[in-house]
Amino acid sequence: MDDLYREVIIEHYKNPGYRGRLDPYDIRFADNNPLCGDHIEITLRTDESGTITDARFDGHGCAISQASADLLVESIIGKSIEEVKHLNKEYILDMLGIDLGPVRLKCALLSLKVLKAGVYGLGEASDSLVE
Ligand code: ZN
Repeated sequence: MDDLYREVIIEHYKNPGYRGRLDPYDIRFADNNPLCGDHIEITLRTDESGTITDARFDGHGCAISQASADLLVESIIGKSIEEVKHLNKEYILDMLGIDLGPVRLKCALLSLKVLKAGVYGLGEASDSLVE
């Protein structure tokens, strides 16, 4: 499996720039990927115009889940809540730049699922959020 990991994934896994938890925050959501044991929590701050002014992720799990969360959180600072609602799985796959089988895809998409459940204000995250 290791030879499939691009350097960017290893780099973001080992040295995440956006790991942490904002306090106070405006939006928070957390969920698990039980297939792999990944856990991701995302906290966001927004301004009155609905722009994301800061974002962090916390959690544990495999390199793909944690690297995709770091890349995602970094990329959404400065975007509007409306923009984030329209992000899809291609957005994550483009950032990761590798082909993933169905099991690893769940790892890669966990952070987007958590983010979208948070910005939509849902009680539960569903896979349909990241199709
Ligand atoms: Zn995983």
